[in-house]
Amino acid sequence: MQKTILITGSTSGIGLGIAREFAKTKSYNIIFNGLETNGQEIADNIAKEFGIAVMYSNANMLKPEELRKMVGDGISKFGKIDVLINNAGIQFVSPIEDFPDDKWNAIIAINLTSAFYLSKAVWPGMKERKFGRIINIASAHGLVASEFKSAYVASKHGIVGLTKTLGLEGAPFNITCNAICPGYVKTPLVEKQIADQAKAHNMSPDDVVNKVMLYKQAVKEFVSLETLGQMALLLASEQSNTITGTAIPIDGGWNAQ
Ligand code: NAD
Repeated sequence: MQKTILITGSTSGIGLGIAREFAKTKSYNIIFNGLETNGQEIADNIAKEFGIAVMYSNANMLKPEELRKMVGDGISKFGKIDVLINNAGIQFVSPIEDFPDDKWNAIIAINLTSAFYLSKAVWPGMKERKFGRIINIASAHGLVASEFKSAYVASKHGIVGLTKTLGLEGAPFNITCNAICPGYVKTPLVEKQIADQAKAHNMSPDDVVNKVMLYKQAVKEFVSLETLGQMALLLASEQSNTITGTAIPIDGGWNAQ
């Protein structure tokens, strides 16, 4: 039987890459979400390419009522939500003394608090059906810090804590919750960082990639969308019922050091 997955921030980058891996299996209805203005078109193209049913919502992670409505609309359309991937996220880089208050609040709200609201909204259905899979896209920065990323590192450490707690609370109901902690993935979020850092440090984009970003990874390669998608597919499966409360680094060995 077809399962339904809701992936936040899935009209770009990692979320879209993961959605493609789920679409390839043809076993999932996909609820797309994101702020890209062509979000509906992106979702429709995947539906056409893979012959699956989709829905698109532009719910803003900053607005709890829009998140609850997205879940309600998804349940009305597909009857249930089996898998939730909390992926939408933003970044801002600044020394602490200049870090804008509004950026701190937005990063915590989008990267962390939205996962609380959405997990809470899908939980009763998952509990009733005795099946649920919640996957949080944290970051290598959910396990270690880098300077100038105070809000991002705090939000990602926070979501790892939420993951552990939901893993424990979900255990009696076959609801698992796990975090995937990627190293660098070449998405629009990272392209922007490369450009910003090149400007800030007067370096070439190649030097930013090799001397700043991949410096901490033992494997000097960006993490691929397919690798993340395959891990998400495993965590979403029926067989993964004993994998819960984990934070799984896919970071080229960054966290091994
Ligand atoms: P991206 O910028 O390509 O995509 C982010 C998505 O989130 C977009 O669809 C965007 O519309 C959506 N989004 C942002 N703010 C939103 C809001 N207020 N409401 C609704 N949607 C919103 O970024 P990405 O690199 O694909 O990042 C996805 C996730 O992966 C983030 O949580 C990020 O922290 C995490 N991550 C990224 C990397 C990396 O190297 N790219 C590494 C580790 C973790």
